[in-house]
Amino acid sequence: MAKQTNLHCSFCGKSRDEVKILIAGQEGHICENCVEHAQEIIVQELQKRHEVQTTQYRFNIRKPLEIKEFLDQYVIGQSDAKKILSVAVYNHYKRITQKQQADEVEIEKSNIIMVGETGTGKTLLAKTIAKLLNVPFAIVDATVFTEAGYVGEDVESMLTRLLQVCNYDVAAAEKGIVYIDELDKIARKGDNPSITRDVSGEGVQQGLLKMLEGTEVLVPPQGGRKHPEQKMIKLNTSNILFVCGGAFDGITKIIARRINTNSIGFNVNKNEQEAQRENLLQFVNAQDLKSFGLIPELLGRLPVVTHLDPLDAATLRSILTEPKNSLIKQYSRLFAYEGIELTIEPAVLDFMVQKALEYKLGARGLRTICEHILTDAMFELPGTEVTKLDVTLEYAAQKISKSKLNLLKVA
Ligand code: ADP
Repeated sequence: MAKQTNLHCSFCGKSRDEVKILIAGQEGHICENCVEHAQEIIVQELQKRHEVQTTQYRFNIRKPLEIKEFLDQYVIGQSDAKKILSVAVYNHYKRITQKQQADEVEIEKSNIIMVGETGTGKTLLAKTIAKLLNVPFAIVDATVFTEAGYVGEDVESMLTRLLQVCNYDVAAAEKGIVYIDELDKIARKGDNPSITRDVSGEGVQQGLLKMLEGTEVLVPPQGGRKHPEQKMIKLNTSNILFVCGGAFDGITKIIARRINTNSIGFNVNKNEQEAQRENLLQFVNAQDLKSFGLIPELLGRLPVVTHLDPLDAATLRSILTEPKNSLIKQYSRLFAYEGIELTIEPAVLDFMVQKALEYKLGARGLRTICEHILTDAMFELPGTEVTKLDVTLEYAAQKISKSKLNLLKVA
């Protein structure tokens, strides 16, 4: 024991007691902290010399039809958005390869804006495309950014997020996809009365311009404000695809005004109003987004505009069971791990949809509802002799009536 306490790390000098692990070498020792630190230095050095292989990200270019088919496995409906995204993504990655051949016709970037209510699948679409193409994917929220010099995050921090997801593999990050959520929240106040944010929104839009277009950015590896001692990583954004999403509440009125559909009144009955709203969104274009408060320079750098349809009962019902990793398939798998066969009556699925619509929870709410129905069983059954769980309408209704969901009931 006495001998052990004299041991210390030959790199940082910490004694045996101050570290968790001390590895012995021929003439010295190294602690776990120094091993980690050395590893970081090695990765950075090799990256500088471009010797790091992007093994994890072997980039797959797919034809638009193949992209759409893949999306169909995970995302229900939204066929317009799927088609437009498939083409934009295909063209974007074709542009990258074309660039390498030094062709004289330069194709511009096809960054994308998706307009659609929250919970309709915008993030899911972007995430699924990144999965198919096998490129790094980061989700960021536009509301956390502020103009440089103000409290909040600099826009560069979204690139930190992208670097972190691919373990600082710069070459992979430079071909990645960034999904910027809630773009509507940085709209300029003025043209649109429903936006309450102040002018800092416009400052953030200005901050995004260069990055969306393609430039070299110095990215702080750990994020946050630029630290004097942080070693910056240089990242070129020319081949990063930016996909933006937002609900753009109130934009249908702008669309209606533009296409001059005088016959459309917003005090008609609620069902008709909803149908019209759905129809109107499909006509959304850059001009409407400008009226909403996005600056023309930003719109110029986001040339592809598409919309997502609101989810109706039939779509919600399909979302429960059809996607490759649908909620019901996931729960069945969880029960199967415990040796329990889960069966759910079709009427229960309709009941779940009805509750999701009733509580205005959308597709995100389907999960909450499943949890409320199945949590008791997931808590009680593991370790028992039970091998079958049959969820009937009566069982589901009883679980929901006891749950706190009832407090959410919309009047
Ligand atoms: P948002 O439009 O707000 O970005 P998300 O893509 O995050 O919405 O959707 C939230 C969740 O709802 C997803 O994780 C998914 O489970 C489900 N969902 C929403 N829309 C669809 C859809 N069209 N197809 C399948 N699942 C969907």
